[in-house]
Amino acid sequence: MPLQSQLPVKAMACGNCGHGLFRVFSYETDFVMKLVTQCEKCDSTSVIEPVPATLRIEFGEGSDGRLCRMDPKTP
Ligand SMILES: [Zn+2]
Repeated sequence: MPLQSQLPVKAMACGNCGHGLFRVFSYETDFVMKLVTQCEKCDSTSVIEPVPATLRIEFGEGSDGRLCRMDPKTP
């Protein structure tokens, strides 16, 4: 049964040759796990890995200042 009929998934293809079949490998260290796919036609590889989250501090609406790294001038 095609997966597309069971889940809202979309097919993906190799950006180099357009082929649609891949081998999937796991790459694991103590700290991270990545997936590596290899196109069965042209051997192009893709690495699928998590990107660490970052914090961003922006000005609040109408605010004249925002948090920054400095010693406070008052307690
Ligand atoms: Zn390919």
